Amino acid sequence: MLQIGFIGTGVMGASIVRNMMKKGLNVNVYNRTKSKTHELIKEGAVWKDTPAEITKSSDIIFTMVGFPNDVEQIYFDKNGIFTEDIEDKIIVDLTTSTPTLAEKIAVKAKKLGGTALDAPVSGGDLGAANGTLTIMVGGEQAAYEKVLPIFKTFGKTFTLHGSAGKGQHTKMANQIMIAGTMTGMTEMMVYGNKAGLDLNKVIETLSGGSAANWSLSNYSPRILKEDYSPGFFVKHFIKDLKIALDEAENMQLDLPSTKLAVELYEKLANKGFENDGTQALIKLWWKDGEQPTSKD
Ligand code: NAP
Repeated sequence: MLQIGFIGTGVMGASIVRNMMKKGLNVNVYNRTKSKTHELIKEGAVWKDTPAEITKSSDIIFTMVGFPNDVEQIYFDKNGIFTEDIEDKIIVDLTTSTPTLAEKIAVKAKKLGGTALDAPVSGGDLGAANGTLTIMVGGEQAAYEKVLPIFKTFGKTFTLHGSAGKGQHTKMANQIMIAGTMTGMTEMMVYGNKAGLDLNKVIETLSGGSAANWSLSNYSPRILKEDYSPGFFVKHFIKDLKIALDEAENMQLDLPSTKLAVELYEKLANKGFENDGTQALIKLWWKDGEQPTSKD
């Protein structure tokens, strides 16, 4: 029976593993902090001690860690994925990482007789929990088609965008767009509040017009409940936008709005909010306890 390996069971990874198991897949798991796999193990996942052990015992290996450095570590270091025989295996990196690293992994995997796909996702913690993620893939068509039935256990939109690295480039396009919706949504709320509007009503009205967007519908209600938990970590958004700006620079492109978004998020992180969710951007304007209370 097909064995799935999964490395990195954080906010996103744990929900994805859960959805895979609900669809009847056998999943082997590894995470740096073992306790984050305890619930999954109770639900049927099997613990393995290292990324190498995951690779040895699985046919298709998924990885979803935090930063590009973490990806480097689990693929290339001692006890990493590439220390094992990966002949005929497919390795899928769901982490938001650099297109360059995705290409490096694909080349190495091919050399060792396996295949690698870069497949970052969008849809947030709720998309992961509900199994409705959007998956943006780079790599070979044949491997993509083999993994497609597994993508369907945790996603609802999947597209192969081209060769290795193109999934990560598509995710960067996604993050550049979100930089705009997050800053726009935050400034809209600050403005609406100062103008004495009922923000619940404003959000409802704007959601039905041309200002409607995912950040507005998913994050503004959390702000009104003073829920700044991640969701999507501030530290990860800064990582993503910096990758996007590096890639843009390589293409001699200037992206001033994205640069401004990074500056704002770095200011937020420097105030100690790097482990909050990205909706915490509003804390640059509203101090704790000063949020408007719901008027409904
Ligand atoms: P997270 O909760 O921090 O999950 C990352 C997990 O990877 C953690 O459990 C971490 O272990 C583990 N990890 C890190 N380095 C490792 C290593 N060297 N070996 C083994 N495990 C390691 O973050 P997340 O929100 O799930 O996000 C994961 C990735 O998806 C990030 O690249 C993020 O940018 C991207 N993403 C997130 C969202 C979202 O809405 N959250 C949406 C789309 C994409 P520890 O427990 O020890 O820290």
